[in-house]
Amino acid sequence: MNLENRIGFGYDVHQFVDDRKLMLGGIEIPFERGLKGHSDADALLHSICDAMLGALALGDIGKHFPDTDPTYKDIDSKILLSEVNKLVEAEGYKLGNLDSTIVLQRPKLRPYIDEMRKEIATILYCNIEQISVKATTSEWMGFVGEEKGIKVISTVMMVKK
Ligand code: MG
Repeated sequence: MNLENRIGFGYDVHQFVDDRKLMLGGIEIPFERGLKGHSDADALLHSICDAMLGALALGDIGKHFPDTDPTYKDIDSKILLSEVNKLVEAEGYKLGNLDSTIVLQRPKLRPYIDEMRKEIATILYCNIEQISVKATTSEWMGFVGEEKGIKVISTVMMVKK
């Protein structure tokens, strides 16, 4: 397989808890609750990692950074995304574009979207125009609507360097 472009899909879910910071897209979002996880639980960055790995059939985030490994306890997910970027670069690819949707009931993310895009673009050495981050609610339905957690869906196009 020697494709010029490869698409990838990532999905992540994390549960809200009381005693953690809310980290999304590499930044801290002011909110009364945070997300539970072995790492800093940045579901947006995790879904991007999975989408990039998936595009090149390199497995998933759990394969590369097992949640049983103490090395990754409370780790900054920006480090994980940076490591994933190195893996795809080693395969001869770079990000073409990324499109993510964060599904959560609260807080409203609009004021933080551009800061997240900038953060992701910095980690992936690309332009902010290549990074799309969107947010929507679940209309008060299901586990997202009940504010038990959030989910994030990401798609990427990886292009040959
Ligand atoms: Mg995760």
